[in-house]
Amino acid sequence: MTPRMPAWLDPSPWPDGRRATPADVERALACDDPDPRELAALLSPAAHPFMEIMAQRARALTRRHFGRIISMYAPLYLANYCTNGCAYCGFASDRVQPRRRLELPEAEEEMAALKEMGFEEVLLLTGERTSHAGFDYLLECVSLAAQRFHAVGIEAFPMTTREYALLAEAGCSGVTLYQETYDPRRYDLLHRWGPKKDYLDRLDAPARAMEAGMRTVGLGVLLGLSDPVFDAVCLLRHAGHLRRIHWKSGITLSFPRLRPQAGNFAAMFPVDEAWLARLVFAVRIVLPDVPLLLSTRERPEFRDGMAGLGISKMSAGSRTSVGGYGEAEPATEGQFQVGDTRSVPEFCSMLRSRGLEPVFRNRDSVFRDAEAGGHG
Ligand code: SF4
Repeated sequence: MTPRMPAWLDPSPWPDGRRATPADVERALACDDPDPRELAALLSPAAHPFMEIMAQRARALTRRHFGRIISMYAPLYLANYCTNGCAYCGFASDRVQPRRRLELPEAEEEMAALKEMGFEEVLLLTGERTSHAGFDYLLECVSLAAQRFHAVGIEAFPMTTREYALLAEAGCSGVTLYQETYDPRRYDLLHRWGPKKDYLDRLDAPARAMEAGMRTVGLGVLLGLSDPVFDAVCLLRHAGHLRRIHWKSGITLSFPRLRPQAGNFAAMFPVDEAWLARLVFAVRIVLPDVPLLLSTRERPEFRDGMAGLGISKMSAGSRTSVGGYGEAEPATEGQFQVGDTRSVPEFCSMLRSRGLEPVFRNRDSVFRDAEAGGHG
């Protein structure tokens, strides 16, 4: 049965369903307190001639709120077991590929490899909760990572408030959980089986993480699954809802696009680079102080252009397979294909050549250390 969207997630920016006009776009660009209506105007066909102005505005706002800094992080895939049937994912339970989890000494080796590369912020990833890689396993991995990194985040399965609190106690400061699409009908079609089929449970999980004391929550949609304007408006509403209720925690937003993966799922709503750039500019304009992330899914030239132009946090040198940092070459059976395979030094030197500064130790972790009586 298709789930009902909660009232706060109203996807229609204009009650009468009218189309945005150039005057709406100009109003959105001049607005001091933009909301989903302004976002929809900036994403409408009427905004097409305003791309350059939007890019300049996005750059200026990024510079004002983040300076020349690009915060660096790295994903670490702990396990690829999964019981879900996400139609678009290479780790879905019907995909034939080797399954494994990192045993704790192996996880330590991967962490050591990331430290060697200079990272101080790590994002630990698993698939759905399974007997191979469940909550207790993740908790142990978080504890190991917290001894080594200044910031530890997880991207795993939705949890209870109590579980999130235990992870926070063990040193986890961030939870990333994408809704994938906010369109309940598309969500139901794409999530063919498994616990992830529960749209409302997933939608509510970031609030539980914040309630449990997580410092940051990462939201996002997987571009290509559904109408991107609908999803962008809902993403903004979700972020606004969480910020109103849990104002002590921070939000980050990501813009993953569907990449080729096992199963060859084709995007029903393809999003090209020009549109993705416009989305980043528009979100930066309506949420000037929220960190916006771009991963290595995208190709180098696009990432180079977007760094500092809305985007304030990036990964580099990423491997998307379990145990990937210990392998000489990227594996072909990762969760998705990496578009930017440059090394960390190569990526950092590109940033510096553009007047940007890669930063590996983020301010949030400095704050955490200070609270713990450390030296930051
Ligand atoms: S997206 Fe996550 S939950 Fe869905 S199949 Fe892939 S790993 Fe499992």
